[in-house]
Amino acid sequence: MLNSLRSRDMAYHFHSQTNPRRQEADGPLMISRGEGCYVLDELGNRYLEGMGGLWCASLGFENDRLAELAAAQMKKLATYHTFNHRSNDPCADVVEQIAELSPIPGSRVFLVNSGSEANDTMVKLAWYYNIARGKPSKRKIISRKGAFHGSTVMGAALGGLPHMHESFNLPSLNVVYAGKPHFYKNALPDETEEAYCNRLIDDLETLIASEGADTIAAMIAEPIMGAGGVVSPPADYFPRVREVLTRNDILLLSDEVVCGFGRSGNWFGCETFGFVPDMMSIAKGLSSGYMPIAAAVIGDHVYQAIADEADRIGVFGHGFTYSGHPVTAAVAAEVLRIYREMDIPARARELGGHLFGKLEATIADHPMVGEIRGAGFLAGIELVADRSTRTPFDPALKVGALVERRCRAHSVMIRNMGDVISVCPPFVMTKSQVGELVDGIAAALDDASAELG
Ligand code: PLP
Repeated sequence: MLNSLRSRDMAYHFHSQTNPRRQEADGPLMISRGEGCYVLDELGNRYLEGMGGLWCASLGFENDRLAELAAAQMKKLATYHTFNHRSNDPCADVVEQIAELSPIPGSRVFLVNSGSEANDTMVKLAWYYNIARGKPSKRKIISRKGAFHGSTVMGAALGGLPHMHESFNLPSLNVVYAGKPHFYKNALPDETEEAYCNRLIDDLETLIASEGADTIAAMIAEPIMGAGGVVSPPADYFPRVREVLTRNDILLLSDEVVCGFGRSGNWFGCETFGFVPDMMSIAKGLSSGYMPIAAAVIGDHVYQAIADEADRIGVFGHGFTYSGHPVTAAVAAEVLRIYREMDIPARARELGGHLFGKLEATIADHPMVGEIRGAGFLAGIELVADRSTRTPFDPALKVGALVERRCRAHSVMIRNMGDVISVCPPFVMTKSQVGELVDGIAAALDDASAELG
């Protein structure tokens, strides 16, 4: 018997990132509860969640310690704001911990509620910083084709995915796009990774020269592109990007919404790929997705210029009602304590070693698998029609979506972005659950192969 709430959802809920007509016809998969790394639907079907929901639930889907702490904080101070010189205890706790973990020297933490807001904030800060330095013409932001940076107006404008732009009639926000550093797909025949990286850097230099460095405020990039297809850059890409940007007086903004908090095997993705950004955005893993909290983390050199400018005006005119909300901050602060107790980067490396070993052993030779890539405890599997020529499937076949459905039939949740399957599991998975996840994917690939004929 279907829960009648499902039909109410069908009647009233306009879903995020969903086809509304299909939603009206087919209805949602109602997730009713969480048990460790599993979620259960309304019929009691249990799925091993290989994506941590939306790249978030690093501690799985239930945690008594966090539930009790949230309840206690609700009783002590259920809500307050941080405008106009106000703060609260959990807020001070969480910003200190973030600053301690951050690789950016002299980090200051601006709290917001979502990854999109964190990226919007970084862009506004980059503009403000340049006004403060008397460089108002530095307004353009370099993003990259295929990138995902959120769904607010600026987040979507930063994104390099066509469906985030099409039909929205977004205003022109001075975003220009560099190439996606995707060696497997974009390298020329016989091009080495080193030569490919040289070409990417030459293209970036050309873009900056043609736009004019004096018109560019910042470049935003995810260390590993998540929703863009779990794309790890060539070795040396980021240190060289950093050098080009510094030379041109352009800020580097690291979007750590997916990569932050251990995912790539270090606390932050920028550490894994050898660069120090001027600012970084954090969200998702910051609270294990348990509460909507995010932040822009800002280097001291940027902060000082902005603080002087805001002092001249009298106020820094940015921030949200729920910035530093005491309950969300309390949960995030406790999540960070749990990560530190677990040594989450080491756990990512250990579980990731197991995940990649198992993927290699189980599906690397599958005729549909072109490449297995990623870092830490984050993996992408590129599906192709022909492995020897790297020929993609006809997009009309929607092969990735087929594999995703077949995974669910085998009680495993993954995500497909086109024909890339992504895996971003909770860090509380056991090795045997990692095995269960990979076995489910392997069975789904076999089903899909049989179905495609
Ligand atoms: N940046 C990246 C890399 C993301 O993956 C996402 C969300 O998936 C965002 C930003 C936007 O975060 P939010 O949905 O919390 O606004």
